Amino acid sequence: MTKFVYLFKEGDQSMKNLLGGKGANLAEMTKLGLPVPQGFTVSTEACVQYYKDGRKMNDVVIEQIYEALAETEKEAGKKFGDNENPFLVSVRSGSRASMPGMMDTILNLGLNDVAVEALAKATNNPRFAYDSYRRFITMFADVVMDIPKHNFEVIFDAKKEELNIHEDTHLSADDLKAIVAGFKARYLELKGEAFPQDPKLQLVAAVEAVFKSWDNPRANVYRRLNNIPYEWGTAVNVQGMVFGNMGEDSGTGVAFTRDPSTGKNELYGEYLFNAQGEDVVAGIRTPKPISELQSDNPALYNEFKAFASKLENHYKDMQDMEFTIEKGKLYMLQTRNGKRTAQAALKIAIDMVEEGLLTEKEAVLKVDPAQLDALLHPQFEPVSLKNAPVIAKGLNASPGAATGRVVFSAERAGEMVKDGKPVILVRQETSPEDIEGMVVASGILTSRGGMTSHAAVVARGMGRCCVAGAGSVKVNEAKKYFEIDGKKYHEGDYISLDGSTGYVYGGEVKTMDATVSGDFAKLMAWADKFRSLKVRTNADNPRDAKTAYDFGAEGIGLCRTEHMFFEGDRIKAMREMIVSKTLEERQKALGKLLPMQREDFVGLYEEMQGYPVTIRYLDPPLHEFLPTEEEDIKDLAKEMGISFDELKATVDSLHETNPMLGHRGVRLSITYPEIAKMQTRAVIEAAIIVNKKGMKVVPEIMIPLVGEVKELKYLKDIVVAVADEIIKEAGVDLEYSVGTMIEIPRAAILADEIAVEAEFFSFGTNDLTQMTFGFSRDDAGKFLADYYDKKIFANDPFAHVDVKGVGKLMELAVKGGQATRPNIKLGICGEHGGDPASVDFCHNVGLDYVSCSPFRVPIARLAAAHANIKNPR
Ligand code: PEP
Ligand code: MG
Repeated sequence: MTKFVYLFKEGDQSMKNLLGGKGANLAEMTKLGLPVPQGFTVSTEACVQYYKDGRKMNDVVIEQIYEALAETEKEAGKKFGDNENPFLVSVRSGSRASMPGMMDTILNLGLNDVAVEALAKATNNPRFAYDSYRRFITMFADVVMDIPKHNFEVIFDAKKEELNIHEDTHLSADDLKAIVAGFKARYLELKGEAFPQDPKLQLVAAVEAVFKSWDNPRANVYRRLNNIPYEWGTAVNVQGMVFGNMGEDSGTGVAFTRDPSTGKNELYGEYLFNAQGEDVVAGIRTPKPISELQSDNPALYNEFKAFASKLENHYKDMQDMEFTIEKGKLYMLQTRNGKRTAQAALKIAIDMVEEGLLTEKEAVLKVDPAQLDALLHPQFEPVSLKNAPVIAKGLNASPGAATGRVVFSAERAGEMVKDGKPVILVRQETSPEDIEGMVVASGILTSRGGMTSHAAVVARGMGRCCVAGAGSVKVNEAKKYFEIDGKKYHEGDYISLDGSTGYVYGGEVKTMDATVSGDFAKLMAWADKFRSLKVRTNADNPRDAKTAYDFGAEGIGLCRTEHMFFEGDRIKAMREMIVSKTLEERQKALGKLLPMQREDFVGLYEEMQGYPVTIRYLDPPLHEFLPTEEEDIKDLAKEMGISFDELKATVDSLHETNPMLGHRGVRLSITYPEIAKMQTRAVIEAAIIVNKKGMKVVPEIMIPLVGEVKELKYLKDIVVAVADEIIKEAGVDLEYSVGTMIEIPRAAILADEIAVEAEFFSFGTNDLTQMTFGFSRDDAGKFLADYYDKKIFANDPFAHVDVKGVGKLMELAVKGGQATRPNIKLGICGEHGGDPASVDFCHNVGLDYVSCSPFRVPIARLAAAHANIKNPR
């Protein structure tokens, strides 16, 4: 029989896939001899089984839960629902990857009308017992029974108001008893049945609720964002309760072994006396910094510090821990590798090497490539910032600068960003329901909660700028405004946030590009030592080429020449060329394009300082360039000396039903070889100019959209003839190569034939994905959401290489190419070239380089290092 349930003492760190991160770490802490309240983990396989059984709790799983419960009860010397010494547990989710805030926790499970009295007697603390019971009812109703918390909060608040009490801790046992009675009545009223009194049934229902929550919309959004497969399922941890709310000698807290915002090597966290976990995390009460525990209770502080460093040394990583103090005794409830800002990640990795805890290779693996994005995010322009009024100050929860229009709900945020302008999500505090809004917002501002509140933790993980706990900001979510010192800001008003300082500014503050620190350069230098994939950039102008070079690009993998003609007057010459009806007309237009093109190539070669530069020949889907506005047609007709009607008729005749599959790529030059001739002239002449200055450029001429070797041969012959003639005439030596993109499935299948002509392949995975799936790359976004909702796709194949299908074609093409030409150079220049998961695939399939947009170059460098460390070649 499959074993679905494991006692903590039966597991260890290596069983993460089965026990989830939290479960494996609870088992490991138990093994390390730390004071962990004992319990058991219902495995991820049980969750998978739950969905296999059609969302039904399996009898075998239930039976094993009861067995593990009996064992745990025995060890604790307490019994579920007992009228003398009742056993209570917490129930928490825990998948393989940590998903902060995505799954809900239930504390104090096991309480019922009998157990609460017994607990009151056993602890001689009826106040504590009824406080625990009212918390449990709220959580159970909310998480398991879908009865929102506010149904109970109103009862709680009404009681406080009736008694004129402001602090929860001032409510007496009798007050809480009355509140519990009110809660139960409300539960009965809303649910049509009494609050469940059988703890075993409570437990099974809670485990089931955790399983169900694996499939709630916010979990699905988080998973897609973080590339976590749906198939993994979540484990459930059932742990004996210890109580932080048993009086002033009890408490609870969360702490990191190092500062998660800066990386500074000092204990960082918050705690509260006489409280339970959710008080700290939800920001209901304002916690104290952990450093104060040192003066409040030095012995406990030292004990905790020793546990913290033991865990950090053991896991060789910064830890995020939860602890509870029950009547002066310290318990460790959880540990995991802590989420951190990108700056902190770099500092911690580098410090740990200097401290001798990590090797350089291990340190490189500690920094998540995707996270580097946050380092490259904009900052405020100093001049613009000088004139900006500070309207509030909160915690510097997640760095970066953001400016945008105020919005108060996730839903409205999604609607407002459709106009392309940024928004700032403002909330009292965030909860997992806000995740979609946090994704689309440029920044997040909350009025409540600390550095470990939901907003802070989630924003840091996403690399989103966040100012949390700005207490002076009075948020009225329902009426869509917030107020500071009597001044109101409404939906749509601009504000700006500095997530690195915690300042909130009124109005729009201009932002500027990021500058990277010395830690960044150091870690990237280590990464470069361990990678074998080269990283190039996609750049169509010298400015982008320079940015990329500064970020460490080792060449240009794709210059989309048609993009050189978008700006200013250039588009006119390009349009003239497209609508030309005769060879003469076209040659006249090409004559205008040639010097611009040559000049741009000189700029690109110079910025790349001798690194290879791949020039992709014109590939304009015609619809992107044809004039559509009457004004533009008039202008162009005048320029060409023809009538409006004549040009309009030409434009109409060029209209294509399916431009992505139309007259583009190599097809265009097959019809009009003079285009390729002009481009060859520009490529070669520019290279000669630059080489004369002492640089050695080897241009790579890339023909797009080839599906048949004869297409390539036809064009290559023309290119080579023109190039060789220019070189001969100039009397110089110049090397160049001619290759092709692999972006049509037929080219991948027949790669061995294509390689007879092609000296290199570059995978154009944008088109290859489009044509392999038959999804229009311009329109797929509209329906892919339905694919995610219906679990047909886990994520966007235009963002992450579809390893199964597109990847198989790539593998085939690599093998075919190498069979014909063993040293064929292989690269990728589709958008996937900057996506860490796709970089990993490119490494494993044996490419020589990836090419991506300039700002993703560092991400690709680090991802390439990760790939080679994990799977050296
Ligand atoms: C591609 O198709 O992947 C590619 C890089 O070319 P483009 O995006 O310009 O079609
Ligand atoms: Mg393409």
